[in-house]
Amino acid sequence: MYLASVTQSEIRATLEVAMDMANQLSDGDPDLRALLSEAGFGRAPQASAASLDRLTSRMRALTPLLHRLPEPDLDPAETATMVNEGLVELPISPSIADHDDVGPHIHWTPATARFDDQVMADVLMALAQELCDNSTDRFGRCGAADCARLFYDSTRNNSRRFCADPRCASRTHTADHRARRRTIS
Ligand SMILES: [Zn+2]
Ligand SMILES: [Zn+2]
Repeated sequence: MYLASVTQSEIRATLEVAMDMANQLSDGDPDLRALLSEAGFGRAPQASAASLDRLTSRMRALTPLLHRLPEPDLDPAETATMVNEGLVELPISPSIADHDDVGPHIHWTPATARFDDQVMADVLMALAQELCDNSTDRFGRCGAADCARLFYDSTRNNSRRFCADPRCASRTHTADHRARRRTIS
């Protein structure tokens, strides 16, 4: 099923950011302000330190759920309940916004919302829409040994195997190649 492309690409972009935040939190030493600024969250550079601290702990609380998304035995009803519990705490009040030449799009929170509320609303609404459209099919975990980073798979044929770190793909391909050569010789 395809929604309007702007909406669909926003959901994807937001889910990629959510996975990046979870990966940074798991790796340690997260800099969510830099990550969100780079991802185009316009309020990130000016957001207060308190808001960034709240966002860090709220994303930390969401990370265990995000890590379970690629698991095959995940219970969809339990996942939905957890997303709903997160949504109910947020000051969600949708409106159509049009700024900075990005075209009309939906803001889930009012302009007066705290930055951490805005980001959590974006993340949980993107997650809710994705779970309704594609279930958890597009959530994955890096296939490289010693890497547990999460990713959202935006490829057309759902074929992504590795996180964004290029070393994961290259060291796995090298290991595959060596294993093949051992089998041949
Ligand atoms: Zn906007
Ligand atoms: Zn990796």
